[in-house]
Amino acid sequence: MRVLFVTSEVAPLIKTGGLADVSAALPIALRRLGDDVRVLVPGYPQVLKALESFKIEAYFSGIAGFPDARLFTSTLPDGVPLWVLDCPALFQRNGGIYQDETGIDWADNALRFGLLSKVAAIMGGPESPVDWKPQVVHCNDWQTGLTPAYMHFSPGSAPCVMAIHNLAFQGVFPPQTVAELALPAESFHPHGAEYYGNLSFLKAGLYYANHVTTVSPTYAEEIQTEALGFGLQGLLKNRNKSLSGILNGIDASEWNPATDTALVQNYDVKNMAGKLANKLELQQRMGLKVDAEVPLFGLVSRFTHQKGLDIVLEIAPQLISFPAQLVLLGSGDATMQSNAQALARKYPGQVAAVVGFDEVLSHLIEAGADMFLMPSRFEPCGLNQMYSQRYGTPPIVHATGGLLDSVVDCNKVSLANGLASGFIFNKMTAHELLICIQRALQIYHDKNAWPNVRLNGMNKDFGWQKSAAKYHEIYESLTG
Ligand code: ADP
Repeated sequence: MRVLFVTSEVAPLIKTGGLADVSAALPIALRRLGDDVRVLVPGYPQVLKALESFKIEAYFSGIAGFPDARLFTSTLPDGVPLWVLDCPALFQRNGGIYQDETGIDWADNALRFGLLSKVAAIMGGPESPVDWKPQVVHCNDWQTGLTPAYMHFSPGSAPCVMAIHNLAFQGVFPPQTVAELALPAESFHPHGAEYYGNLSFLKAGLYYANHVTTVSPTYAEEIQTEALGFGLQGLLKNRNKSLSGILNGIDASEWNPATDTALVQNYDVKNMAGKLANKLELQQRMGLKVDAEVPLFGLVSRFTHQKGLDIVLEIAPQLISFPAQLVLLGSGDATMQSNAQALARKYPGQVAAVVGFDEVLSHLIEAGADMFLMPSRFEPCGLNQMYSQRYGTPPIVHATGGLLDSVVDCNKVSLANGLASGFIFNKMTAHELLICIQRALQIYHDKNAWPNVRLNGMNKDFGWQKSAAKYHEIYESLTG
């Protein structure tokens, strides 16, 4: 099965969140099943710099509405074939991949990701200049949402899958964008790409794709409701026969405490001693009081309303009075960043906050913390709660989306049957979080129960194999 996997980020070349991890790991897992998956990503400076060599494969000039571009072929570090869409006018710039240095969305994002969508559609269509013809085009999030729309109006194109990694981001632009991106005028319709008078990239993808996927079974249900459908619940409900929720896996070789080079000592289920060395190292590096006994809570996250950092900051004074310590790593919302830093200044030795994106530190937190906090308001899948289980750091999570599908709450029954792997709270309030943390601390201090909760998580299979097989089945169903 030849699959073109179109994405706006792919680890380790360029990453702002979980999409990059999935774009790296899922193609590998599918290739192991025998599928010929190739990744298409924009040629940001980080991508071009990271690649050792590439070759020009095709030129795209004179596409209505877009600047000239080139297609390079290369490979990802793990050997997955890669197409890089080189268009200096749109992708060669300093700053973030979606936003400038000040955190404002690039004004030409519609054109930038319109081009990515268009080139993917051309590659999946009858007039592709490339010899390799995909049988399925797999699109990811709003940045690729116009691909299914362009393909719908180009007879003879391959079928496409639209994957939702986060419905909160939809890529909505003013109506004149339809003409600017040379989308057929008839697509601008409530039964099409129009969203209340504007053009919605994601809605276009959801409407025109042959199949829609999202990253956990629970989130697939939630997005059909008003509470979490972000205005698209009606469309998603209509499409529910061709909507699948498939839980993401993790890259089990990158996130493996037995081999992780970011740790000061490796460990595994048979030998947990090394975990403590990482806790002591983390405490020391973060300026926390070095103390093997005090429970240490970790959090690694984008700082946004979605992720619930606000309720963590609210309960932090009570949390450290238990006593406990707290280490926070993340970036995003400026107020949340300064609130986190202010808290660390107020409670030196007990709370540490690092503002920024730090891959190595994120691994050390997963290993060194005793428990991991992930109180997301909504969470399509979430990866950190899986990493933390694998690292013997039980997560404390809100009952939503992929968190519900990947964590088993600790109670008498789940402890007895060897499934308990974390702690789940139901109502998204600071008070409920605090009560859940207290419940977790009781187990933490129970020398019989705690090692089991850790091992249950570490023994779980979070690999991609089962999920990749489900994607393969969808591709098969679309190509007959
Ligand atoms: P989302 O994609 O919504 O941000 P996920 O949990 O699915 O959330 O994935 C987030 C990924 O980004 C994880 O691999 C996490 O470790 C990583 N991450 C998030 N913030 C940071 C940070 N500040 N430093 C390092 N890694 C981070």
